[in-house]
Amino acid sequence: MARVTVDELRKEYDTGSVVAVNDLSLEIEDGEFVTVVGPSGCGKTTTLRMLAGLEEPTGGRIEIGGEDVTDVHAKNRDVAMVFQNYALYPHKTVFENMEFGLRMSTDLSEAEREARVAETAEMMDIEELLEDKPDELSGGQKQRVALGRAIVREPDLFLFDEPLSNLDAKLRTTMRAEIQRLQNELGITAVYVTHDQHEAMTMGDRIVILDGGELQQQGRPTDVYERPVNGFVGGFIGSPSMNFVDVDVEPDGDRLHLTGRDGEFAYDLSGAYVDRHADDLESSRYTLGVRPENVTVADGAANAIATTVDVVEPVGSDNFLHLGLSDEFIARVDSDVRLEPGDRVTIAFDESDVHLFDAETGRNVL
Ligand code: ATP
Repeated sequence: MARVTVDELRKEYDTGSVVAVNDLSLEIEDGEFVTVVGPSGCGKTTTLRMLAGLEEPTGGRIEIGGEDVTDVHAKNRDVAMVFQNYALYPHKTVFENMEFGLRMSTDLSEAEREARVAETAEMMDIEELLEDKPDELSGGQKQRVALGRAIVREPDLFLFDEPLSNLDAKLRTTMRAEIQRLQNELGITAVYVTHDQHEAMTMGDRIVILDGGELQQQGRPTDVYERPVNGFVGGFIGSPSMNFVDVDVEPDGDRLHLTGRDGEFAYDLSGAYVDRHADDLESSRYTLGVRPENVTVADGAANAIATTVDVVEPVGSDNFLHLGLSDEFIARVDSDVRLEPGDRVTIAFDESDVHLFDAETGRNVL
């Protein structure tokens, strides 16, 4: 296994008019499972392909296991990649698919190769499939084979490019758990690209969030969830998404008074809390962010906000209440909170759950 260093990695296309990856720097520890997430076009795949050696960087450096591999050809990097479309050889059997890479990249004897394939097939529970061709397999089986083919080579680094996107929801959950089991058993170093923030949050030791080719934030999933550095990360991580309300902020005695710019919204933050947590508040225009799960329906609570229920969306254990506070403001409440569209409600949330994003820079100041 190997530590990976990415230093100011850059990729431009079309003679510089598209900057797909903008001076990205990352350290990935030996045995760490890092998920890379962001919206379509944020540069995830390009980053991964540069790590694999399939795309030549415009600038910057990549080190794998202490070796500068920036100019090393893909086939000479000790890296295995698992693709969304499985990329199995259609005319080879499962055994041949798994054994072929070993033959190309190691000088193991035939008997050693067969033993390795057998061992990996057992680990992946695909022993029964070894004589089958890919088109005889289900999507889930194909992806197990693709994983097995990567694992059998015992590479320094595993790269996953949206490997579960073609599977149905149930199978995706099973395969997620499977990959996590392998990660624990084998202690693999992995970079896992996905557009699915839930997948990124649940699988990663660390999550890296990109937007527009630039690193937005990296950290443990819970830290990123609790302390998003900017409005983009706040809105991208979490489902349903964080609620945003544009507010004007002004001091009011020992409190900070927040007034909605587009409607009936008022909220007070205590001066003591702001002093403890906030950076300097340099402007008066901010966007307040609060997560749906932190909003409660509470009559008579301090700092309560009166509003109207627009839509009630039952999702089983919870109800999502769409409220008339901004374009999209959702409270996630217990399903036994019985409300109808048109009802007036009072909602509340704790100041410790409030984020305040600078209206111009997007930076979280609280
Ligand atoms: P998706 O989730 O849609 O695959 P992504 O985050 O993986 O997106 P990339 O595929 O890395 O994003 O693309 C990043 C940017 O680079 C996009 O603007 C894309 O249009 C551009 N791009 C990628 N490959 C090329 C190419 N070969 N030529 C020109 N532009 C490209």
